[in-house]
Amino acid sequence: MAAVPKSRKSHREVRLRRTQWRAQMMPAAVCPQCHEFRLPHRVCPSCGYYNGMVVVQTEKK
Ligand SMILES: [Zn+2]
Repeated sequence: MAAVPKSRKSHREVRLRRTQWRAQMMPAAVCPQCHEFRLPHRVCPSCGYYNGMVVVQTEKK
């Protein structure tokens, strides 16, 4: 089965869908370790935790 769209989406629809995709990707995740906002599926920039363990050693002052 080929993934061929039945009707081609207009430029407006494509643009609208992509803005929604952006908006859905953006909601911030909260780090379970330090409860700071971080990007989802990214290592926390403030404590270096990801998936329950330290992935990146962050500087401690
Ligand atoms: Zn953190």
